[in-house]
Amino acid sequence: HNQEQTLEFRVMPYAGQLMMVVRDISRLKQLEQMRKDFVANVSHELRTPLTVVTGYLEMMDEENLPPPSMWAKAHQTMIEQCHRMDSLVNQLLSLSRIEGARKYDNDKPVRVPDMLALIATEANSLNKEKGHEISFDVDPELDIVGAPDELRSAFSNLVFNAVHYTKPNGNIHVQWQIKDDQAHFSVTDNGDGIAPEHINRLTERFYRVDKARSRKTGGSGLGLAITKHVLTRHDSHLNISSEVGKGSCFSFAFPKTRIADYDNK
Ligand code: ADP
Repeated sequence: HNQEQTLEFRVMPYAGQLMMVVRDISRLKQLEQMRKDFVANVSHELRTPLTVVTGYLEMMDEENLPPPSMWAKAHQTMIEQCHRMDSLVNQLLSLSRIEGARKYDNDKPVRVPDMLALIATEANSLNKEKGHEISFDVDPELDIVGAPDELRSAFSNLVFNAVHYTKPNGNIHVQWQIKDDQAHFSVTDNGDGIAPEHINRLTERFYRVDKARSRKTGGSGLGLAITKHVLTRHDSHLNISSEVGKGSCFSFAFPKTRIADYDNK
C-alpha cells in the first residue's frame, strides 16, 4: 500500500574519483512496513483477550469478590478468551509452517470426499444456531495429492466462513467435482456479499470486512491468508466472486497433475 518511490543515494570513491550510486529501495521499505504492520496486528489481537481476562482477575481479589451471580459469566468469558488466544497462536504457527514448507513436502493421496464428510459434520454443529440449508454435491471418487492438514484447512475455512457470514436460514452449496479436467471446489452462499473494494484484500493477514462481527464469530482474519498460501503450494489459487446483497462464491481448482489416479478416471 506504500506506492511512493524511495531512492537511496550514496557517494563512493571509484578510480580516484567520486561516484554516486542510486538505488531504488521502495520494495524493501514496503516489506519493512508490512512486517511492522504484522507485528502490530499480532500484538493487538493477543492483547485484546488478555485485557479481558486480566480485567476479570483483577476484580477477584479476596477482599472484594464479585457476587456469586457473576462467577459463571466471568468463568465462561475467561475460557472463551483463552481459547481465542490459543486458536490465534495455532493459526500463526500454521501460517509460518506453510510459508516455510517446500512445495512437495508432506504430499500424499488425500481422500477428499472423506475429508468433506468430516467438515460437513463440523459445519452442521456450527450451523445449529444459524439454521442454514447446507447441501453437498461431492464426487465420491475424486482424490488429490497434497498435504492433508493444509488441504483440510483450505476446504474447511471456506465452508465455515460461509456458515459464519451468511445471515440465519441461508442457503449454502458445496461442490467438489471434475470440470474441464480439473478438480473443482466451490462454496456458494446467499449471504450479504462483499463489496468490490474489499474482495482483493480478503487474503491479507488480519483483514476483515467487519471487525466486530468477525470477532464475535471467533474469527481472527487469518483463515483466508492461510487458504491462499495452501493453494499456491498446491498449484492452485483462490477465486472470489461476490455481489452485495446476493451472496458470495469462493472457489479453487487443482490441475489434473494433482488428481490421484487421474488416468483411470
Ligand atoms: P475470519 O477469521 O475473520 O473469518 P478470514 O480470513 O477467514 O478471517 O476471512 C476474512 C474476512 O472475509 C472475514 O472477516 C469476512 O469479513 C470476509 N468473509 C469471508 N468469507 C465470507 C463470506 N462467505 N461471506 C461474506 N464475507 C466473508
